[in-house]
Amino acid sequence: SGRWARVAAVIKELEDQCATPIAKLRHVADAMAVEMHAGLASDGGSKLKMLISYVDNLPTGDETGLYYALDLGGTNFRVLRVQLGGKEGRVVKQEFEEVSIPPHLMVGGSDELFDFIASALAKFVASEGEEFRLPVGRRRELGFTFSFPVRQTSVSSGTLVKWTKGFSIDATVGEDVVAELTRAMERQGLDMRVSALINDTIGTLAGGRYHNNDVVAAVILGTGTNAAYVEHANAIPKWNGLLPKSGEMVINMEWGNFGSSHLPLTDYDRALDSASLNPGEQIYEKLISGMYLGEILRRVLLRLAKETALFGDTVPPKLEVPFILRTPVMSAMHHDKSPDLKVVGSKLNEILGIPNTCLRTRKVIIQICDIIAKRGARLGAAGIVGILKKIGRDGIGKNGNEISRTVIAMDGGTYEHYTTFSETLQCTLKEILGEESSASIVVKMANDGSGIGAALLAASHSQYR
Ligand code: ADP
Ligand code: MG
Repeated sequence: SGRWARVAAVIKELEDQCATPIAKLRHVADAMAVEMHAGLASDGGSKLKMLISYVDNLPTGDETGLYYALDLGGTNFRVLRVQLGGKEGRVVKQEFEEVSIPPHLMVGGSDELFDFIASALAKFVASEGEEFRLPVGRRRELGFTFSFPVRQTSVSSGTLVKWTKGFSIDATVGEDVVAELTRAMERQGLDMRVSALINDTIGTLAGGRYHNNDVVAAVILGTGTNAAYVEHANAIPKWNGLLPKSGEMVINMEWGNFGSSHLPLTDYDRALDSASLNPGEQIYEKLISGMYLGEILRRVLLRLAKETALFGDTVPPKLEVPFILRTPVMSAMHHDKSPDLKVVGSKLNEILGIPNTCLRTRKVIIQICDIIAKRGARLGAAGIVGILKKIGRDGIGKNGNEISRTVIAMDGGTYEHYTTFSETLQCTLKEILGEESSASIVVKMANDGSGIGAALLAASHSQYR
């Protein structure tokens, strides 16, 4: 009938506008590499901030001793300790605790929040067992993963630019978060030195490198997205400090903010962006990360409901609610292998209040999931190729006579749980780079990275090193 023809036309238009042929992906990868250069040349030179992390030593595996980590990036924080045993012993023992932050502390005073954190940390330190050994005369050292925008001033200091993710404490903005934490630890009578202040992406890079020396970059594909990689210190024109001994510097790309005329944007994306809390920003993130994939799907379904009566004569009211369709629900529907697509049917019913959908409608949903997820995954692969190009590892790597391996440490729920997404990303890397070059390039899940990574960086930036 005419209705199904109109449905097919909307999908065809979506498919065309979301298309990511290999030539386009190459343009995106090239644009990523160009923007990386520009962001390294000068502050404000690109939408990519290319932040200097001051991390100039990644863990080697030789680290020994007791180190702590604190991970604050959402409504929970984690405290962790590890006993490192060097090349032989590796991670001898590790323990962690997770604490949720009472909502009133997220919007109260700075001291109150940091006192709460320091108090939980002090309790955790007090429970340290005999297997953990701090050499006589040494202070305990901590790596602090703080996943909010920070203007870093050294490897162990940085001022808060703004709170995000539901935190709103004016008194902390513009302050050095390490100083805030250190004062709170002192108030608790806890003697501990913060030796590294990092974000979760750098933690993943450090954790990945500890386990595998071939790790050169880390990518997070979770609620949001970001990447960090190891750059030659002399390839950072905007750096005017002394060159680090290692000759290397970890760069926090903040790649979610990447933008390019080559990105395939649809009207759905533009509308999503305008309605967002940060219009014009994080355009790449809005195409590829878990926070947005389900919302793009909702917007397509809403148009189909309005223009083709896909769900009957009235538009289902819940379909009008922004962000009601989360990416885990989208992936559950996308992966539905049952002959009558009963997962799709029940999710539509449960989440959107749309009962009794026919098989043909359910198939339409899967088609749309496929278009949106594949575009995201393919653009994610192009971004990774951009990094590989920038560091000269997009070809067949030679290290003397040996072929060098290149590993990307990956973390995040979208990549980990959305199988079609991660499989597409991997295939697309092969497609862009070619079979031969891609044979030595591996994307590896590194999901314990963000916790232990900070402790490892506390070790590689220890004052006793
Ligand atoms: P965060 O990015 O908030 O630190 P995670 O790395 O755990 O946390 O990623 C969580 C995100 O992963 C969710 O916001 C969601 O978008 C995505 N996600 C979680 N589970 C699934 C799933 N089963 N399928 C697809 N995406 C998922
Ligand atoms: Mg995370």
